[in-house]
Amino acid sequence: MKPRRFITLLLVLGTVGLLSPLSIHSVRSQTASGLALDGFTLRGSISQRSREEQFRAVPGADSAREHLRRLTAEPHVAGTKEDYATAVYVRDQIRTYGIPAELKEYDVLLPYPKQPSVVEIVGRRRERLSVKEAVVPEDSTSSSSKIIPLFNGYSPSGDVTAPVVYVNYGLPPDYEALKKLGVDVKGKIAIARYGNSFRGVKAKVAEENGAIGLIIYSDPSDDGYMQGDVYPIGPWRPESSAQRGSVQYLFQYPGDPLTPGKPSIPGVARLKIEEATDLTRIPVQPISYGDARRLLEPMRGPVRPRGFQGGLPFAYHVGGTDDLRVHLKVEMDYQIRKIWNVVARIEGNEGRDRWVIMGNHRDAWTFGAVDPNSGTTAMLEAARGFGQLLKNGWKPRRTILLCSWDGEEYGLIGSTEWAEEYADELREKGVAYLNMDAAVSGANFGASSVPSMWKLIRGATRDIRDPKTGKSVYQQWQDRSRESRPEAELTDAQTGSDVDIAEARIGALGSGSDYTPFLQHLGIPSLDMGFGGDYGVYHSAYDSFHWMTRFGDPTFAYHVAAAQLWGTVAMRLADAHGLPFDYVDYGAQIKEFFTESVKTARRRNLSAVFDGKGMSEAIENFAREAGRVEKSRQETVLEVERTRVEANDSYRRAEARLKLINDALLGTERALTDVRGLRGRPWYRHQIYAPGFYTGYAAQPLPDFRQALEDRSAGNAKEALDRIVAAMKRATEVLSKARD
Ligand SMILES: [Zn+2]
Repeated sequence: MKPRRFITLLLVLGTVGLLSPLSIHSVRSQTASGLALDGFTLRGSISQRSREEQFRAVPGADSAREHLRRLTAEPHVAGTKEDYATAVYVRDQIRTYGIPAELKEYDVLLPYPKQPSVVEIVGRRRERLSVKEAVVPEDSTSSSSKIIPLFNGYSPSGDVTAPVVYVNYGLPPDYEALKKLGVDVKGKIAIARYGNSFRGVKAKVAEENGAIGLIIYSDPSDDGYMQGDVYPIGPWRPESSAQRGSVQYLFQYPGDPLTPGKPSIPGVARLKIEEATDLTRIPVQPISYGDARRLLEPMRGPVRPRGFQGGLPFAYHVGGTDDLRVHLKVEMDYQIRKIWNVVARIEGNEGRDRWVIMGNHRDAWTFGAVDPNSGTTAMLEAARGFGQLLKNGWKPRRTILLCSWDGEEYGLIGSTEWAEEYADELREKGVAYLNMDAAVSGANFGASSVPSMWKLIRGATRDIRDPKTGKSVYQQWQDRSRESRPEAELTDAQTGSDVDIAEARIGALGSGSDYTPFLQHLGIPSLDMGFGGDYGVYHSAYDSFHWMTRFGDPTFAYHVAAAQLWGTVAMRLADAHGLPFDYVDYGAQIKEFFTESVKTARRRNLSAVFDGKGMSEAIENFAREAGRVEKSRQETVLEVERTRVEANDSYRRAEARLKLINDALLGTERALTDVRGLRGRPWYRHQIYAPGFYTGYAAQPLPDFRQALEDRSAGNAKEALDRIVAAMKRATEVLSKARD
């Protein structure tokens, strides 16, 4: 769902992890201690590494190519029979690897366009825009009659005619700038460019400002010719191409709009459409820059304010005048339709009570070669690798679930309904949720996760070979981040000889893919990762097999690397004796978030209204307890190893202590959620991570606190921080249970 571009990766200073950088080829030459894996005994590390090597030898470029070809043969929008066919393909493939897999269906509200929308200029003459993506002769699937017309998911039907105002990105500061010019969008149609925020936010802000319709277009400066050659010459968006996508108010709640917090299964009461608070009330329509040009060029009114100019070759005006009006007609067919998740299961050794969950969506706006089926391909290849290990007698310590979600593009529907149906069980058993959505659109690795998994991600990327450079994925990621980092940001330590200790930065999770229900509703530690690149055909008819073989990953080597990495992370979580979660990093990150927020509060004269000292203490206590658990976890793993052969009382005590530690580590993230939820959006329960109201996809850490500071509300700021402090105390309490 979310466009992946990892161009903003930064470096932070960090300590070197347990392992120094090594490629898989140098593994054998490492000393025994260099082989140690976090959470494994030395002996366990050796057998784990050997098993991982067996696993990583399985994913192959030829079979990856074949999966992607099959999955992208036809457009497969959620709920269509072509989508169902991909579900059956995924299920049957996984079964052939010897892993049980089942379809799991839900009945959810999904709109399709009844017919292509009308966007018409009503000026001195009438001119209807094409609102259609052109056939590209080189790309055989681009002529398919099954490609869904350009539309925005969950736009209502509507037929409006009004003057049009150019609102730049369509965010609150843009409307402020327009107000200063004396331009009002009330009763008018807004035209916004894509970028800087999730499109649902643009719909919400347009609605709040009284617009009666919204057109969103792809400006060439964002993902068109200003970035480089356009398709089919280059990977960027061509003139007739537009971006489909949902305008659901994801920041309110994701999933089926009619069953917030509950699964869409028989017997569950549904809201009426008018009652759903995550749906926009104004028609929204995406168009291309080819079409947008014909609308923007004749616009009058004031010349654009600073920051409004895009990449079309004329001075943008904001419009709003009566001489240029637009007729927008959107006709949607809203129905309850079936969607199909696939859930496969590798049973763990320690019974059924600990789950490591891998997830990727399968539904696509069109062919979905990058988004999401590069991820589906990686999952199938990882499953094939697991299948080989199972044949060799492997049984993981913890259960591994492989989930192929449906309906993600409309609003994380399949994953949310499933997470809501199994909420209690997931809260009890969920160890981690590992997401890959658009796994491959290039060679640039990037990741976002909760801080407790930073070391795990860095460690695993050290053991995967980057296909292009032959270095480890980690080394390549770190080198690239260092290059892209502005000189001014380098501290003395980094410009000196210690530059190698700078760690590649892992981002914060906001929303925009299927980790949201797991992390932000249930409190399950989550990550999202993949290889990004120059990807200008996002949510268009050209996100196709041809695009992938021409630009994204012609050799399929990065699909193989994605499968290797994803499976390696899952195996380490599933097989580790002591769970490799580090809450010391988590504490440091929360401290950083809080320090940032305090700066904002000072600027706004709000620092006296909340209990900053209480929060600092809560962070300190959490960090201290996390440090204790981290030390005890490492010692206990060694103790288990030392006493293992004798299998005496000390051994049993060490095992019991390790179980306590693992349970505490499992419960810590859960304790950061609050059943009351966030202010005005009870579905979102995590006190540290949520998508912002106006950032959409991007995370707004310490969400309610930050929002209160934004709103300059002293009362809300105090209450929000009190809740965060309470969550920190709960988490500290859970960690302290690791002590016997
Ligand atoms: Zn996606």
